[in-house]
Amino acid sequence: MEAAGKGILGRISGGKEPRTLEHIEHLLIEPTFGCKMQCRQCGSAPIPEHQAFLEVKTLRKTLDKLQARGLSLSAPSFPSWPSSVIYGLHGEPLANPGLHKITRELRERFPRAKAVAFWGLGGVPSAEKLAERTKGLDLLLLSVDGQHWGGKYLEMKRNGKLPETKKTEAVDGEIRKLIKWAWSAAAENNFRVEFNVVGGERQKRQMLPLIESASPGRNAVVHTLEREPRGSGKGHPPLPGHANIYHDGTHAASPSPGAYLVRTG
Ligand code: SF4
Repeated sequence: MEAAGKGILGRISGGKEPRTLEHIEHLLIEPTFGCKMQCRQCGSAPIPEHQAFLEVKTLRKTLDKLQARGLSLSAPSFPSWPSSVIYGLHGEPLANPGLHKITRELRERFPRAKAVAFWGLGGVPSAEKLAERTKGLDLLLLSVDGQHWGGKYLEMKRNGKLPETKKTEAVDGEIRKLIKWAWSAAAENNFRVEFNVVGGERQKRQMLPLIESASPGRNAVVHTLEREPRGSGKGHPPLPGHANIYHDGTHAASPSPGAYLVRTG
């Protein structure tokens, strides 16, 4: 299967990856390709429901190649913005059953980089699995907004978990449960939990009561982001000097800080 990023990034650039990768400050990793949530507004759409996972042995091979070209994540441009490995791209990162092994590998190789994961509220069967998969993270960013609320609604409907009445309450209840799982995984693994709300201040006002009711006694940090068009493929902010590693080990790197990615190998 072709990685989604391959086509998208190939069209953007068409060039070749730089020979040295000393300027790379951030790694975007795709632990999972595909997502069972199937949100209507997904920035990575069309995205398959079937999932393929990055394996540690694949990651090792790719990192060996990239580190031989100078990748070290040791020189961030802004002291207040440390180097990082970020889990996201074209699928639900937390659905990968071996995510904690991926994090362990990355932490051993890049001890100064922060580990950050996006969670779109799908792909995790239990609180125990969430606690296992989030081991080693510094920050878990939960997407709690109308888009993911709608995705959860559709997922529950497909799985026969949506009741005949009080559907809204059922979806709210499910999301509240997942937020609580995140807080207890954070307490166990010592990472921060923050919330992303796509759609601006209005969305934030709508979602805050849901977030706060699942976060008693916590000071929930909530970020608002503007909506990107469905299928835009830009499900992450622009980063200075970054490289992507896809679930199948293919990769792309920016030729200089702030430039577009080039070549997927
Ligand atoms: S959870 Fe995220 S990746 Fe999955 S369909 Fe929804 S927006 Fe797309």
